[in-house]
Formats: sequence, C-alpha cells, structure tokens
Amino acid sequence: MLRSGDAMAAEGAAMSQMKPCPFGCSSEPQVIDADQAVHVVCKDCGTTSFRCDYGPSKGEPGHYPSSAVARSEAIEFWNHRPGEDRLESRILELEAVLGAGLGGPTKAG
Ligand SMILES: [Zn+2]
Repeated sequence: MLRSGDAMAAEGAAMSQMKPCPFGCSSEPQVIDADQAVHVVCKDCGTTSFRCDYGPSKGEPGHYPSSAVARSEAIEFWNHRPGEDRLESRILELEAVLGAGLGGPTKAG
C-alpha cells in the first residue's frame, strides 16, 4: 500500500509523462476527476481525451474499477498518437541517415 507521499510522487510522475496538447497549445493538460469519471483536458483549448468512467458498474463496457485505473487509462488515451509516434521514429531514422552522410566533405563531379 502506498503512503500518501508515494501516491503523490507517483501521480507527479504520471502527470509529467503526459504529452502536450496535439493542437500546438503551450498549456499543459490537466486530469479532471469528477462524477466518477476521469478525462484529460487541455487547459488552453479544451481538447478532451476519452472519458473513463469508474465506480459501481452497471455492466457497461469501458468501465474501470477505480479512480486510479480510470486516471491511468485516461492519460494513456491522451498520449496515444500513432501518427505522431510514427513520424518521430521516421525523423530519427532520417537523422541517422543524414548524420552518416555528414561524416566528411563530399565532392560533386
Ligand atoms: Zn490545446
């Protein structure tokens, strides 16, 4: 069982792992936990992740057993950006190719 200090440290780590808003806002996202549901919201433009409900389930799909689980799922939804991840890895590949090509001066002709 986590002590409250550890829980806060764990939360701080999770918060720092959240990606910035995908729409170019400089504001950090914020986790909203209210009415037995958690979602992540951009403080600037209001872009919102999927809503993750928790608490007593009536058998609905996508219902989480606790606030902590719903919170980590909401953060995961917020951070899930397959296109962005693909571009990032492609940029790294191309940078590696360019870096290899910049090993020395090249002569044209
Ligand atoms: Zn935003």
